[in-house]
Amino acid sequence: MIDYNPEQAMCAVRREFGEHGGVAPSISRSSTFTVLEPGTMPEIFEGIRGPDKGGCFLYSRHFNPTLDVLARYLAAMEGTEKAICTASGMSAIACTLLQLCDQGGHIVSSDTIYGGTHALLDKMLPEMGIHTTMVPADDLAAFEKAMTPETRVIYTETIGNPTLKVADIAGLAKLAKKNNAALVVDNTFSPILISPAKLGADVVVHSMTKFINGASDVLAGAICTSEELAYHLMDLHTGRVMLLGPTMDARVAFDIIQRLPHLPIRMREHSRRAMVIAQHLLELGVPVVYPGLSDHPQHLLMTAMMNRGYGYGGMLTIDCETRQTAEHLMSLLQNQERFGYIAVSLGYYDTLMSCSGSSTSSEIAPEDQDRMGLSPGLLRIAIGYTGGLKERVAQIERALKDAGLI
Ligand code: PLP
Repeated sequence: MIDYNPEQAMCAVRREFGEHGGVAPSISRSSTFTVLEPGTMPEIFEGIRGPDKGGCFLYSRHFNPTLDVLARYLAAMEGTEKAICTASGMSAIACTLLQLCDQGGHIVSSDTIYGGTHALLDKMLPEMGIHTTMVPADDLAAFEKAMTPETRVIYTETIGNPTLKVADIAGLAKLAKKNNAALVVDNTFSPILISPAKLGADVVVHSMTKFINGASDVLAGAICTSEELAYHLMDLHTGRVMLLGPTMDARVAFDIIQRLPHLPIRMREHSRRAMVIAQHLLELGVPVVYPGLSDHPQHLLMTAMMNRGYGYGGMLTIDCETRQTAEHLMSLLQNQERFGYIAVSLGYYDTLMSCSGSSTSSEIAPEDQDRMGLSPGLLRIAIGYTGGLKERVAQIERALKDAGLI
């Protein structure tokens, strides 16, 4: 375990009170801002001045006061100098990669990543002359072998979607440094649990649509990184976030600001329940994968990387072997047992379930799914924290019996 306390770090951030002393911050919805002295405006465009560089706010696609409050908390949570909020997780990932890679640039990526990111790397970026070599998430030597003089980025998810393979962040960070590349880590499955920047990652991206917001009612993303890269991303003339424009709405930023303080409590409870359910499934002889179980291939690695006290997260999988069996089980869990919902996404207070191979990983060709260990019957379950835990355990056991899996 490492000695970083994201809760404490977020608490140490300067509190932003609302107008009239409100304990909740105000929402600053203005798209444009008054510049008091005309000479300040060209200096903002030249990057000499900014809201925290003796200047002021200019325009909300650039910086916005409400987004700035959220960004300060996110940077503290991940232990980075700065953070940038974006309209979705995909825009955070795409803008980061486009900032770090020019035409001809090369990326070495884990092969077990979210289907949308896989499609971006495998289909879209090659059309722009940026090529990716995919390697097994858990094979550090394969990452090393794939590096070329053109490699600009090593890309991985901390806990891979959907196979739950855990990446060796410190090992990858060392490799990136040795090759003058940047390590970009998608920490969507493990906010608070693991702090990749503290293990050497250069950029930590998030789909805040998931655990961080936690209510499945907004789309949002984050890029947590150095001050230097954050300013490059927001440069008025060249920044990829600035020019592509995936700006978060200030009302969305406010919603997430209000939910961030209980993220650590939520993560603990997602973890506690997922662990109890995973252990029970293991005892029943169900092919369950959960990083908290000692039979998970990277259980010890994850234990060594974790921040103390938040558990192993809320994601587990059951390999039902065929899509038909997985769909039958999901149907029983939703429609008979009311255990959770058949829905993509994760990090909600209720349990969400999907069969990854034919849904959120369907962009990935069947032979690549096979190579990354994604069976067509892999049921991904994002464990929520509603209802009694004993009853939840009974519900899943009954559904497994009725599906003929135990
Ligand atoms: N990263 C991971 C690990 C995801 O699971 C997802 C979406 O499922 C994304 C990124 C994309 O996030 P968003 O839907 O917010 O664009």
